[in-house]
Amino acid sequence: MPVLIIGSYNIDLVVRCPRLPAPGETLLGGTFAQHHGGKGANQAVAAARLATAGQVHFVATVGDDEFGRQALTQLRAEGVNTAGVRVAPGQPSGVALINVATGTGENSISVAAGANEHLSPADVDAALADAAAGTVVVLQLETPLPTVIHAARQAAARGLRVILNPAPAQPLPAGLGADLYALTPNETEAETLTGVRVSDAVTATLAADRLHAAGFGRVVLTLGAQGAYWSDGTGAALVAAPAVPAVDTTAAGDCFTGALAVTLAEGHALPEAVAFACRAAALAVTRPGAQASLPTRAELSG
Ligand code: ATP
Repeated sequence: MPVLIIGSYNIDLVVRCPRLPAPGETLLGGTFAQHHGGKGANQAVAAARLATAGQVHFVATVGDDEFGRQALTQLRAEGVNTAGVRVAPGQPSGVALINVATGTGENSISVAAGANEHLSPADVDAALADAAAGTVVVLQLETPLPTVIHAARQAAARGLRVILNPAPAQPLPAGLGADLYALTPNETEAETLTGVRVSDAVTATLAADRLHAAGFGRVVLTLGAQGAYWSDGTGAALVAAPAVPAVDTTAAGDCFTGALAVTLAEGHALPEAVAFACRAAALAVTRPGAQASLPTRAELSG
C-alpha cells in the first residue's frame, strides 16, 4: 500500500567554521556544504529507500527558485512521486542556515520557512482525492498547523491511517488524537505534550498513559539509543535499539518515522513495524549526514 508524506522541504546551507561567530562578527575560514532537508522531505526519502518502487508520494510546497527546482529533481531521483509537490509562485524555498563549530560540534541554526508556510488544505485535498485505500499518511509540524489538522481530519474521514510525528515540539489541539492512527514523539516532544520527562520504560509508560488520556489511542515514543516504546492502550513494550557505534544521529527520527510508515503500509502489526523502524534508524546513526545516512531496504534484509 502507498505511503503519503505531507510536510516540509528545506535546503540546509551549512558553514563549518572554527567557532560560532559572535553577534556582529564576520568570521572567515569556513567551508560550505548544501544538503536537502526538512522533516517531510527526509521522511519521504527514508520511506522511498525502503518501500517498493512507486509507493511513496510527497505533498509539499517548494520555492519558485533554484532550490525548489533542485528539490524536485532530487526527490524524483530518489523514487519519490512528486505529483503533489507544488511550486509556490513568488515564494523562496524553505532554508535552514546552519553554522557548525568544527572544534566543539556546537551549532546555531536559523530557519526561514518560506514556501512551507503556503502548504494549504487545498494542496492536501488534491493529494487525498487520489490516495488509494490503505494508504498510510504521515504528517509533521513544520507546515501550518491548520493544514496539518485538516489533513488528519480528511485522511481519517477517508478511512486512511494517519501518523503524526509531532516535531518540532509544540502543544497540540484537543481532539486531534481522534483522527490519528499513531503519534510518534521523541523525548522532548513527549515532555512538551505530557509534562513527563521521559528517560526509561517507567516514565515512557507514564507519558503514554497521559497521551492516551488526552485522546491519542496509539503512541510510539522514540527514546534515542534506548530504542522506542509503543503503547496502544491494550499492549505496550519497550523495543531496545540495536547496539551500534553512533556517528551522527541527525535524521534518526525521520528515518524511524519513514520506516514505520512503510512497514505499516505493508500490513505489519505495530510491534513488528516498531522493531523494523528501530533497525533502520540504528543503521542510519552509524553514518554521517541526514538524507545521506538513510538506509535502503537491501541493507536491512537478512
Ligand atoms: P533526530 O532529531 O536526531 O532525528 P529524534 O530526537 O527525533 O532524532 P530519537 O529518539 O533520538 O529521535 O531517535 C529515533 C530513533 O533512532 C530511536 O527510537 C532509535 O530507534 C534510533 N536511534 C537513535 N539514536 C540511536 C543510537 N545511538 N543507537 C541506536 N539507535 C538509535
